[in-house]
Amino acid sequence: MEYILETNSLGKKYGRSEVLKNLNMHIPKGSIYGLIGKNGAGKTTLIRVLCGLQKPNTGTYAIYGTLNKDKKISEARKRIGAIIESPSICLDMTAEDNVKEQYKVVGLPNYDGLNELLKLVRLENTDKKTARKFSLGMRQRLGLAIALVGNPDLLILDEPINGLDPEGIIEIRELILKLNKEKGITFLISSHYLDELSKIATIYGFMNESKIVKEITNEELEHDLKVRTQINVSDTKECVKYLEERGLEYKVISDEIIDIY
Ligand code: ATP
Repeated sequence: MEYILETNSLGKKYGRSEVLKNLNMHIPKGSIYGLIGKNGAGKTTLIRVLCGLQKPNTGTYAIYGTLNKDKKISEARKRIGAIIESPSICLDMTAEDNVKEQYKVVGLPNYDGLNELLKLVRLENTDKKTARKFSLGMRQRLGLAIALVGNPDLLILDEPINGLDPEGIIEIRELILKLNKEKGITFLISSHYLDELSKIATIYGFMNESKIVKEITNEELEHDLKVRTQINVSDTKECVKYLEERGLEYKVISDEIIDIY
């Protein structure tokens, strides 16, 4: 499996407190990786380390195979776009000017693709309206447009639906799915809502007490969550006929045992 990003025994301390401990994470190319953990589990710290905003105390991480200690890591990091905590936008500027600023930050020679980006996040008709007058959902979408400048292959979003209303949540969700399917962008999304993440994630990393305690694909998770009842039967054929007629999901384990889901 090709990993866009992986960590090896990553550790981070703030003073004496170990916020990341022996953390191992693997983000497959093209996936939507849901990083799940309750408040204080260390999700934001992990994201800050991966984006180069904090240095790990122990362990390593690699972006496209380039280790964090390698000189080329800043080049590799250019392939990442991120929104950490809240989108970095200037509230007194229009959507267009905010995105233009990012073109300058990234060092692009012109504004090629600017209109497409604004269209993609559905902010092309906001004209002279400043971001201060935007809803939270619009600000989040503007943040996404800014993070997309420079065509990153990996987008890191820290709690992207925090504070959004149901409509805003759906908009962000659909945008993420579109970017993943149509542009092949890989996502790392942190959240403490498994329910919401389960609508988009293809793989999960469950974080607890500073570690990833389990990495599991969507299919494996669905399988694990299925309720299964095992029954002993005297006539397998007859029982299968009965289950088929009722459209039930089952698995014949042996001549005498059937699992019903
Ligand atoms: P939340 O969902 O609440 O943001 P989180 O999983 O993102 O939680 P972090 O923000 O990474 O968790 O915080 C993990 C722990 O590290 C918390 O106990 C927090 O108080 C502590 N912490 C975070 N940043 C710092 C810092 N700069 N200095 C000291 N402690 C910190």
